[in-house]
Amino acid sequence: MKTINIKGKEYTPVNERILEFHKLYPKGRITTKIISHAEGIIVMMAEVTPDIENEKRYFTGYANEYQADKRSMVNATSYIENCETSAVGRALGLLGIGIETAFASSNEVTGAQNREKLNKDLTCEKCKGPMTYAEKEYSKSHYLVEYCRKCQETLKKKDEAF
Ligand SMILES: [Zn+2]
Repeated sequence: MKTINIKGKEYTPVNERILEFHKLYPKGRITTKIISHAEGIIVMMAEVTPDIENEKRYFTGYANEYQADKRSMVNATSYIENCETSAVGRALGLLGIGIETAFASSNEVTGAQNREKLNKDLTCEKCKGPMTYAEKEYSKSHYLVEYCRKCQETLKKKDEAF
């Protein structure tokens, strides 16, 4: 599995983990559920079952996001999707798929880094326009390319196939 290095720690993007999961567990299942959602704050749970014939063995992961999170560029438009991805990433982490950085999602880690203003000199691979560190990391973890938010939109359809 590919990993990305965030502040000296390896992290496996969630889409990589999902691919690995389906490879390892052809009879597996990933489901997600909204636990609560009000006033721009969402809590989601993901359930990962390696073998649907053994329903009792499953792993859960929880995540929360809020739309107004200033540390996150993506949350303004995609906090629900972001939350779902984080929950799935954590559940897969409990199954032993992928590396979590002390159980912080990449979004949380990049949020912290964002505060240290790492936004300078970053350009989108596609349109060559400027982009923020958060956009870059989000793009890398979700699409394995470094696109700005606008260019990421063009890739969205591909991502929804998961
Ligand atoms: Zn772009």
